[in-house]
Amino acid sequence: MNELNADDPSLLVIALDTNPSQSILKRKPNLLTNILNSISAFGNSHLMQKPQNKLAVIGCHHHTSKFLYPSTDKSLEVRQIDGQYEYFTLVEKSIKTNLADMITNAPKVASNNESMLAGCLAMALCYITRIKKSQPPGCNLNTRILVITGSEDSAHQYMTYMNVFFTAQKEKVVIDICALDNTLVLLQQGCDITGGQYLKVPQIEGLLEYLLWIFLPDPAIRSKLALPPPVKVDYRAACFCHRELIDIGFVCSVCLSIFCKFSPICTTCSTVFKVPVPLKPKKKKIKT
Ligand SMILES: [Zn+2]
Ligand SMILES: [Zn+2]
Repeated sequence: MNELNADDPSLLVIALDTNPSQSILKRKPNLLTNILNSISAFGNSHLMQKPQNKLAVIGCHHHTSKFLYPSTDKSLEVRQIDGQYEYFTLVEKSIKTNLADMITNAPKVASNNESMLAGCLAMALCYITRIKKSQPPGCNLNTRILVITGSEDSAHQYMTYMNVFFTAQKEKVVIDICALDNTLVLLQQGCDITGGQYLKVPQIEGLLEYLLWIFLPDPAIRSKLALPPPVKVDYRAACFCHRELIDIGFVCSVCLSIFCKFSPICTTCSTVFKVPVPLKPKKKKIKT
């Protein structure tokens, strides 16, 4: 991560979990407005740091992920508000309008559905790659993704998460995690792999302060700041058969799939294995 240069402009993609099934939103339904206000202010602070800085916000629901900013909807009209820079008004307004649109068009579901966060991260990576390619030659861009979520860990999305984390590491995209409610074991791994910062917000009311303190500084200058120490990461993997986190398991020697029980045929790559023969207990040598 030493190759990041603090002088280069930075592209920040915020992946915001807007799923109404999050327990924190069920307890306090009005919280989403506070979170949105904090994110608009935080995004605008990021844009204010350097004129070439770029911002994108993706909303992640239980049925889809959608760009809240920059907006694909050209019809959005922004009138200048006294005392606010037009660009900032545009950011704030398009986040709110597009999110309202996404929530109104969401299909009604009876049970709690998990957020499609891994897919949302993959979308963010694709966007970052596209923007990087469109940069003029010789212009470097520091890139990072900030995930803001109150959802629980989802071992069902383990494979997609791991693909996203290792792609991000290869592309030098830093993944920061801001957990609003639950401790996120899988996402902590992503932070650790890509050199990002993980924070479980102690008090949700102070969200904007935490965002500005920990996540606003660019990763290139973070080593010079006094930030919370890195968390101890739980590197357990989820088995591919039941999607549960396991301590010890069987690994396919061909495709590295993980299983909690021995199976003679790998379900991922169909390699056939011999059934292991239990070792005979060693006979004790009799001393003469
Ligand atoms: Zn299993
Ligand atoms: Zn295999």
